[in-house]
Amino acid sequence: MQVRFWGTRGSIAKAGPSTVRYGGNTSCVEVRTASGAVLVLDCGTGAHGLGQALVREQGAARRGHVLISHTHWDHIQGLPFFAPLFQPGNEWHVYGPQGLGRSLRDVLAGQMEYTYFPITPAEFSANLAYHDLVEGSFEVDDIRVTTQYLNHPALTLAYRIEADGVTLVYATDHEPHLARLADGGTPPHGGEDEKHGRFLADADLVIHDTQYTAEEYPRYRGWGHSTLEYVVDLARAGSVRRLAMFHHDPNRHDDALDQLVARARARAHADPIDVLAAAEGPVLEIPRRRSAVAPLPSIPAATVTACQAEPAERTVLIAVDDARVSATLQAAAAADGLRILAACDTASALRVIRDARPSLVLAARDLEGGGGPALCRSVRDDQDSYGAEVPLVIVAAAAAVEGSMTSDAGVTDWLALPCSEIYARTRIRAWCLRRACRWRQVPKPADEPARLQALHGLHLAPEPEERFDRHTRIAAALFNVPIALINLIDDEHQWTKSNHGCPLAPVPRDMSFCARTILGPDVLEISDVWNHEFGDNPMSHGDLSVRFYAGVALTAPDGHRVGSLCLVDDHPRRLDERQRGLLRDLARVIERELAR
Ligand SMILES: [Zn+2]
Ligand SMILES: [Zn+2]
Repeated sequence: MQVRFWGTRGSIAKAGPSTVRYGGNTSCVEVRTASGAVLVLDCGTGAHGLGQALVREQGAARRGHVLISHTHWDHIQGLPFFAPLFQPGNEWHVYGPQGLGRSLRDVLAGQMEYTYFPITPAEFSANLAYHDLVEGSFEVDDIRVTTQYLNHPALTLAYRIEADGVTLVYATDHEPHLARLADGGTPPHGGEDEKHGRFLADADLVIHDTQYTAEEYPRYRGWGHSTLEYVVDLARAGSVRRLAMFHHDPNRHDDALDQLVARARARAHADPIDVLAAAEGPVLEIPRRRSAVAPLPSIPAATVTACQAEPAERTVLIAVDDARVSATLQAAAAADGLRILAACDTASALRVIRDARPSLVLAARDLEGGGGPALCRSVRDDQDSYGAEVPLVIVAAAAAVEGSMTSDAGVTDWLALPCSEIYARTRIRAWCLRRACRWRQVPKPADEPARLQALHGLHLAPEPEERFDRHTRIAAALFNVPIALINLIDDEHQWTKSNHGCPLAPVPRDMSFCARTILGPDVLEISDVWNHEFGDNPMSHGDLSVRFYAGVALTAPDGHRVGSLCLVDDHPRRLDERQRGLLRDLARVIERELAR
């Protein structure tokens, strides 16, 4: 894989004698795989030079993919000047975060309105396709791309790109969720910062926003940018091989950037990380890794672009008794046109969830009459009354958030106070959009930590075993289905212990149907997946084509549900009562095998 920087600057282009070495253009990175696929990461002013170079190359520029992190000016202003888009016969795909209400295409067209620009998007003569993204994975040519939301005052995606046996992460315009991490250090377990660290981990090259230093940060808190201390420490913890500091502050001249690099290298010196500051011009070769590394979990070829499930109306319950915090959150939700419900104590919040079924709940940790975590437990324990899916976010002071991350099961996320309205707005957007792909929001069961312990206590080998395979064979014959599986659900993945009719690599828990099955004791039957909320799950359209699903939880000897026995077919069907009974019976037999 080859990487070349065409723009490295943040916020605004800064041409001049003081930025000659690292470059003055805003964000634009060219990536090429061995097969010749072309990816463009962001289209800041650097895209002009890249576009000219691609056009000169003729054949190679016919087809490519532009991945936009977010639509702030410094990441899109080069798009109307990107020459390959004006060449008839070219095929270009533009990807970026899906907004609430407005499509990526409309947002990008906004900067080309008559008042600001003489050319309209209609004049792009290349064949152009826009793809609205949420979090997930998809494939373009021979490249696998995984996305994750960043912390920035606009909905922003980081991209993890895997091709040619190497991994590149592009994460720019991101601020630590917990402000104390701007000084560096280890993120607390279970929070968004830890999740971000995992997203970078084990990459061969990480290109990351390092606009500020720890000393500068307090003046720019909430602007949505990282410090080099935060980034270097995450890279060290994640065994990243090479780190390219990026999104250079426009006030930072070349000599000052040299000092910044020296500082980052000193901080990383104990670890074998190659730290550099991104500079316009030279081509970076990322060699295929020689030493054996743990393979990343395989994600089925799936496209999560354009999540169709756009509910007509979204409702947010804000159960926060502090009037000022509540007002900030309400203003943030109102700015995106969400309908707002309010509650000032735990009992009335529960009533609202039961009666109005909001699409998102924000609850104060110390809410009167029980508090957010207790509210969460009630909701998760009684899914018949409150629904299985509502994302529940606990709002608390930063210090309290850190304390509760490990202990509060069933919580979707935390919102640390104090926070600005624009910060809250971006987070609320992300939670709503994650929910838009409803299959992604399978909550974890209330007994999750003990459940994982029970699963690991079974000491099951990952390899297939005849003593399980005979049961999936029997199940397939008994129910006349092409596929029968025994799946185990661990912290992040579904592992297939036995498969009849389909070899299945581990899939992310988000995508697993069985992760939903283990939430209840009884058979989960989806007679027609395409007409169910799982319809936009990639598993229902990929090679596997899950149209019918029926699963029943498998319980470990100590009573925790660790996995499921499931049946899959490629056309809709329905089990009768006798068949549901047989499925339960078979699960009990398999459980005895699990216990052995
Ligand atoms: Zn930026
Ligand atoms: Zn930005």
